[in-house]
Amino acid sequence: MSNEYDVVVIGGGPAGYPCAIRAAQLGFKTACIDAWVNKDDTPAFGGTCLNAGCIPSKALLESSELLHRMQHEASAHGIVSGDVAIDVAKMQARKDAISKQLTGGIKQLFAANKVTGLQGKGKLLGDGQVEFTAHDGKTEVLKGKYIVIATGSEPVNLKIAPIDNQNIVDSWGALDFTEVPGTLGIIGAGVIGVELGSVWSRLGAKTVILEAMSEFLPMVDRQIAKEAQRHLSKQGLDIRLGAKVSTAKAEGGKVKVDFEMGGQAKSETFDKLIVAVGRRPFTQGLGVETVGVALDERGFVKVDDHYKTNVQGIYAIGDVIGGAMLAHKGIEEGVALAEQLAGHHTQVNYNAIPSVVYTAPEIAWVGLSEEQAKAKGYEVKTGTGPFAANGRAKAMEQAAGSIKVIADVKTDRILGVHMVGPYVSELLAEAVLGLEFAATCEDIALTMHGHPSLSENFHEAVLLVDGRAVHAVNKPRK
Ligand code: FAD
Ligand code: NAD
Repeated sequence: MSNEYDVVVIGGGPAGYPCAIRAAQLGFKTACIDAWVNKDDTPAFGGTCLNAGCIPSKALLESSELLHRMQHEASAHGIVSGDVAIDVAKMQARKDAISKQLTGGIKQLFAANKVTGLQGKGKLLGDGQVEFTAHDGKTEVLKGKYIVIATGSEPVNLKIAPIDNQNIVDSWGALDFTEVPGTLGIIGAGVIGVELGSVWSRLGAKTVILEAMSEFLPMVDRQIAKEAQRHLSKQGLDIRLGAKVSTAKAEGGKVKVDFEMGGQAKSETFDKLIVAVGRRPFTQGLGVETVGVALDERGFVKVDDHYKTNVQGIYAIGDVIGGAMLAHKGIEEGVALAEQLAGHHTQVNYNAIPSVVYTAPEIAWVGLSEEQAKAKGYEVKTGTGPFAANGRAKAMEQAAGSIKVIADVKTDRILGVHMVGPYVSELLAEAVLGLEFAATCEDIALTMHGHPSLSENFHEAVLLVDGRAVHAVNKPRK
């Protein structure tokens, strides 16, 4: 029958669509159902990442950084540019066009790989059946030997700051402002808070970020996080740690936010407020209760090491199973699952997940921070290479930041690399490869790096671990 498939994937984001493509490449008859509809009522594959996450945010970060560099760095190069300004509508149109191009590309990939792409909602019916409701309301029942849940996540809402999509918005709304707010408040100094805060602050919004925790980016090595916070504050982001918001109310076209900080009641009024306090799994309307798929106490679908749920034939991947809520983690899980279904022994290495915050300077890390390594009982040696001593970074007029290497004294193995600086999102790949291949400091020390390049600073940081850097004053090992 035409509606009988080997694999039915529900969700066409970065976890679901690569899973469907790889499954089809491996010879499975595959369908991928996706419910995403953009604000202009057009359905699109690609999920949060391509439509309202990674890609649109990076497009805006790039535009706003270019403006910022023209305003603040061009003169150092001797460039006389006069007044530069942003055309917000054009910037937004560029962002939307990039998303459209990439989401259209998924349709082409589906066609090329013979994946049946279905736009509408999928619902688990049990007995290997999935009900598909197209956007025009027509329904059909698909049968799948293997059913994959890849329904992703949605923003966490705060009752004390209800989203009205006018003055109080979530991350999706914050990607679509049609003008630069005069004043911008953000609840949450996580990845979204600092990325979108950077965008609108560089474009001219006076931006305050209120963060409940007392530490900035706690998953990042303390030394690197503190350095990053210093650079971002210098750029004008007002990051207030230990700020506990009690209410946010929209009144008269503004938002009044009450919060407590350092034992004192405080209040600020903003033109716009972004709520960016994390994301939660999305399983609404999926029928998990009907078929008995077990969720954990936070609503994530429970899976074993092979992405199997407790229900025979049903699997889950991506944000909906928790862990790092990152597109590349979902992609790897999607591909690994498809290959496992085909009998391969593919595994995801959860100890080498790259993380990047696309501010300027960028923040990037893989593996353990010094604090985490010590807590795990390692005797640790570290090296920190400042970009201020790097010729390429100087030439680029972007010499803020450092690379820190954390290694094990006993084995010389690199345990983690945490960085803040220019293009560290790209430099991170070498560190990830190092961890994947269990590299020692000696391995990297013996690897030649091009000159002048930003990558030399990774080499330098590794040499500094054992006090043998040539272009730096070596400090006694910590
Ligand atoms: P999603 O991308 O959420 O996709 C799930 C899909 O399933 C959606 O299309 C949804 O409509 C669909 N769906 C849900 N229920 C059903 C149903 N019943 N039937 C059919 N379809 C359904 N990550 C990074 O790695 N790098 C970044 O730079 C980055 N930037 C981000 C910026 C922002 C502003 C945000 C919000 C997120 C960002 N992320 C980033 C996180 C990243 O977007 C997610 O980790 C990733 O999209 C998760 O992929 P997924 O496939 O699991 O889920
Ligand atoms: P997050 O978990 O990174 O940060 C949320 C922040 O909000 C935390 O620091 C938390 O302490 C704070 N917070 C929570 N409740 C609060 C409250 N009531 N008052 C003040 N602060 C509060 O979540 P996010 O920034 O919303 O991002 C969601 C997910 O999207 C993350 O998992 C992230 O990995 C992913 N993402 C990734 C990228 C990237 O890879 N570059 C970019 C954006 C988003």
